[in-house]
Amino acid sequence: HSRSIVHLDNLHYNFGQISQFVGKSVNIIPVIKADAYGHGIVRIAKELSIYPNVAYLGIAHIKEGAMLRKRGVKKPILAMSCLDSFDINTMHEFSITPVAHNITLLERLIDYAKLNNTRIKLHLKFDTGMARLGIREEETQKTIELCKQNDKYIEIDGLMSHFSDSESDAQWTKKQLNRFKNIIKMFYDSGIYPRLTHIANSGAILSFKDTHLNCVRPGLAMYGYAPAVNLKKIIDLKPVLEIQSQLINIHVLKKGEGISYSRTFVADKDMKVGVVAFGYADGLPRSISNKFYCIVNGQRSKSIGTVCMDMFMCDLTDIEAKVSDDVIIMGQKNGISITADELAQKAGTISYEILTNIGKSIRVKRV
Ligand code: PLP
Repeated sequence: HSRSIVHLDNLHYNFGQISQFVGKSVNIIPVIKADAYGHGIVRIAKELSIYPNVAYLGIAHIKEGAMLRKRGVKKPILAMSCLDSFDINTMHEFSITPVAHNITLLERLIDYAKLNNTRIKLHLKFDTGMARLGIREEETQKTIELCKQNDKYIEIDGLMSHFSDSESDAQWTKKQLNRFKNIIKMFYDSGIYPRLTHIANSGAILSFKDTHLNCVRPGLAMYGYAPAVNLKKIIDLKPVLEIQSQLINIHVLKKGEGISYSRTFVADKDMKVGVVAFGYADGLPRSISNKFYCIVNGQRSKSIGTVCMDMFMCDLTDIEAKVSDDVIIMGQKNGISITADELAQKAGTISYEILTNIGKSIRVKRV
């Protein structure tokens, strides 16, 4: 019944838009963690692998990288966040580049390299204000010394950091950027010249060119969304993900009758109702019950009643429709569009959460 349609042409369009915006001299690390924000990590990785300006594919967990290697992805892969010392073997086995986000991890990587008589290429992550992962600023000198002493065992291919508020707080973002630039300068001053320096996520890429340095890490924008309303117009982006399902039942709801669990909607007139085979188990947030629309035969149809595990109901009173007709839950048709932003706003969340959850159940076929 249900399909998650990944518009690869739009992915390439968005990637082109971002590449052009940042310019030829800036490398890109497309962020494809969380199953490429719900778009299918293997295919997205392969699509993006064709670009020479892609320096790495950015993932979170080593497991994601191991899977990509097993499925034939050859591009360099950077494991950006959830690496712990237990993963070092897997990392090495699958040629995944680690990010040392604290000194303990850096020391473990050095020990591993010594033990295996090898030299590990890695990126160092510094905390400039996100306060999640990253070597603390005051530990920079100590880190530099450790790197110099162990030059035989580690190659610092990149320095990175992460913004906490790039889509909405320009001043704070500038402060984080300056902190990062100071750290970079300390490395340069001590004779270490990492090839890549990167801190910009989609918000920073779109709002603040100074953050691009020589490498950027777009996630959301590549999938066709801006992380804030005020950033929508900077470059044209097209949503990559479309979600469709089908009408599996049509019936009449009489004036005064309630519908679905807890009867949160009661008909104030006789209505024609459609049942759509898509529910919260397929990633539609239950919190948007009675608030969202879908598209049926080119018209907006309002959802009614509580979203169920496998289904939701919609108002077809003024719409011509029959069982098995397609229903667009997220996507565009005849100039009508339902975006992840619209669903997110109604659910009180962000488009990221909608994208990473919607359509990932095994019942939804990815096309
Ligand atoms: N870099 C890192 C370390 C991230 O964790 C993320 C996503 O959260 C990104 C870049 C991409 O962020 P965005 O999707 O906002 O572009």
